Amino acid sequence: MLFPEFDNPLWPLWSQVSRPSRYSGSEWRFPRSDVRREGKDTLSVCLAFPDVYEIGMSYYGFQVLSPFLSGLPDVVVDRAYCPWVDMERLLRENSLPLTSVERSIPLSQFDLVGFTLQHELGYTNILTMLDLGGIPLRWEARDEHPIVVAGGPGAFAPEPVAPFIDAFCVGEGEVVFPELLSTLRKTRGARREERLAECARLPGVYVPAFPHPVRRQFLPSLEGAYLPDSMIVPSVSVVHDRAALEVFRGCSRGCRFCQAGTTNRPVRERDPETVVDAIERLVRRTGWNEAGLLSLATCDYSAIDRVIEMLTPLLMKEGVHLSLPSLRMDGFSVNLAARLQKVRRGGLTFAPEAGTQRLRDVINKGIDEESIFTCLDQAFSKGWDRIKLYFMMGLPTETEEDLDGIVRLAQSAVRVARGRKRKRAAVSVSVAGFVPKAHTPFQWEKQNTIEEFKEKGRYLKSRIKDKALSLKYHEPEQSFLEGVLARGDRRLADAIELAWRKGARFDGWSETFDLKRWLDAFEECALNPADYTRARERDEALPWDLVDVGVTKAFLWRERCAAYDARLTPDCRVACGACGLNCATPAPEVVGL
Ligand code: SF4
Repeated sequence: MLFPEFDNPLWPLWSQVSRPSRYSGSEWRFPRSDVRREGKDTLSVCLAFPDVYEIGMSYYGFQVLSPFLSGLPDVVVDRAYCPWVDMERLLRENSLPLTSVERSIPLSQFDLVGFTLQHELGYTNILTMLDLGGIPLRWEARDEHPIVVAGGPGAFAPEPVAPFIDAFCVGEGEVVFPELLSTLRKTRGARREERLAECARLPGVYVPAFPHPVRRQFLPSLEGAYLPDSMIVPSVSVVHDRAALEVFRGCSRGCRFCQAGTTNRPVRERDPETVVDAIERLVRRTGWNEAGLLSLATCDYSAIDRVIEMLTPLLMKEGVHLSLPSLRMDGFSVNLAARLQKVRRGGLTFAPEAGTQRLRDVINKGIDEESIFTCLDQAFSKGWDRIKLYFMMGLPTETEEDLDGIVRLAQSAVRVARGRKRKRAAVSVSVAGFVPKAHTPFQWEKQNTIEEFKEKGRYLKSRIKDKALSLKYHEPEQSFLEGVLARGDRRLADAIELAWRKGARFDGWSETFDLKRWLDAFEECALNPADYTRARERDEALPWDLVDVGVTKAFLWRERCAAYDARLTPDCRVACGACGLNCATPAPEVVGL
């Protein structure tokens, strides 16, 4: 499909919306992407992020996928973000379509529109984007329209949005996308149904029109894997305003609540020289003064010390500082943070997740009291005043003692600060409602109700007396909806569409979220949301069973049993837990199943 020349058609509306910079498309990138390469074989791809620009521009996945796909023969790539509610209203009033950021092309004119499903509460924004982009909401009603694809964590439990998506990419984009694009090119001109049937034959592609089992595809190693040469630099500030590079994929810790921990296995590291070269290049080409070393747990990167040592001269010369997205709760991590943040000792964030050692063992968090207190002591002694602690409430087996443990731990943090004479110390506690996720050992668990979450939140708040302590808990209504959608089946699509028609938008944002629309939609669709947050039987068929992420259900159940015994499973880089991926040397004999 050829790209016509377009001016940005939205500019007359900019003065009427909040943050018009979201729509201006003014970005900088090297090399520039506007080289016209369209020919008869060209496939046009629009990567679509179902949230506002400043959130979507912070998403590393598109920063990599965009140049990766552009580098494939005869592929042109653009991006689109969800317009905020004020711009949506104006687009509708003026009968204007949603267009892509770089070339202002309506979504309906692309060959492929590819969504990333980062969070369940973004599902209604997908419908907004399809509708404004001129694409029918459901694949049954599409004809000469783009093929609508979705990937990301939501693709591991795809059924609630299956009627809106032509094909899901299950696994890593670098593996699944090239084959998918080449199939779409080969079948161009064929009937839509035939094209989708061809796509359904590809490894890692799930086509809801032809329900079939699908296996997650991933790179065996990051050696020789695609490395971005540069990044797209927005001209407005975005949530993560920095150059970034993924240093490893996967996580070996085995936290039992964590979906990313199972669906990104196994650990695959980049070699340190590659990381250093790439960071140097990214910093020079983008001009950012912050560079992030990304992964699920960067302190676990085996070459972290070496990389920091090698990068230090450059970073000092260029005035760039390195950031790590998450810190482990131990002395090593705090020392690392101290090396990286020589001047700005703003705040440090840690995630003990649970208030007692027993519950931390249940979730296999793998940190003990001693590490926690060493970590806090070092943080305050090295000059930090503000510490943020993340916890969850509603975890399996939780009792009142565990809730008290949250308060006790936070209070002890304040005592440690006072012991270190940090008079201005402030400890903030953030508590989120636990949402059981598909493909985790807790996928069979019952989720707390809204009332239970509220009661626990109120209880925790009532126990906080110290002025140096503050506590916030995440909106229980949003956790409830997230839980319904996270373990949902295809029947939920009707409720998603109905809630959207009733006005549901940006459900992850508290200023726009309204539970009533959803409850009305569930009722009108004759669905009981509690059916989705209930406990599941061990042998019950689960809506996401058709997705094989490589980790066996037997392993997940084994881990669930270990959780109920508060039994730890070691880091799988130390001892393979026989999860089913067979990535390591012979697994130890597993007993119990
Ligand atoms: S096979 Fe073993 S080492 Fe590999 S991801 Fe699974 S538990 Fe970890």
